[in-house]
Amino acid sequence: MLPESILSVTESFMKLPAIGRRGGQKLALDILESTPELYKELIDNLNQMKEKVKFCSRCGFFAENDLCNICRNNGRDKYKICLIEKATDVLNMEKSQIYNGQYHVLKHLISPIDNIFADKTTLSDLFDIRIPSLLINETVNIELILFFQSGFASETTASYIKEVIKSKSWQNQISLSRLAEGLPLYYNPDNLDQATMIRALEDRRTLI
Ligand SMILES: [Zn+2]
Repeated sequence: MLPESILSVTESFMKLPAIGRRGGQKLALDILESTPELYKELIDNLNQMKEKVKFCSRCGFFAENDLCNICRNNGRDKYKICLIEKATDVLNMEKSQIYNGQYHVLKHLISPIDNIFADKTTLSDLFDIRIPSLLINETVNIELILFFQSGFASETTASYIKEVIKSKSWQNQISLSRLAEGLPLYYNPDNLDQATMIRALEDRRTLI
């Protein structure tokens, strides 16, 4: 029923994971009917976002500078690091509004059946660069908190992390815990609410 070019825009939107056919069509029509000013603003903002947003050189979260807003915030505890799989998981952890540490985005979880080993993750950046730089000249303790979706890859990654820590001379300065207790067994991180996140954080299980 609709002209070909509207369908093409709809199809493009549907290639985005968060958007289905109805949402895609609605967005296409909204844009078609937008004022020339709004249309220009949208295109400019999209271009700017694509051009400016990179990944933080320390933690891997979205950033427009070398460091992201979380790493640049002096009020956040740099000795408390939450390990997560994807940059967008930061937003789920931030829902608790009580977590005051920083993050480390792994990019992948270790999954040998999918041919994903530790070298595809950013774990060597964490264990060989970031943590040693925090421990230099200081007798501090670092708390690592794992926040992974449940599943085989999470278990594999958690065991690998435990082994790496145990092999380090500074193992006594590290505590490792996991946000598993308090979370539903099969959960979609996008649907977690603040109360669930607070409970998960407070009930975290110590691994080391
Ligand atoms: Zn950062």
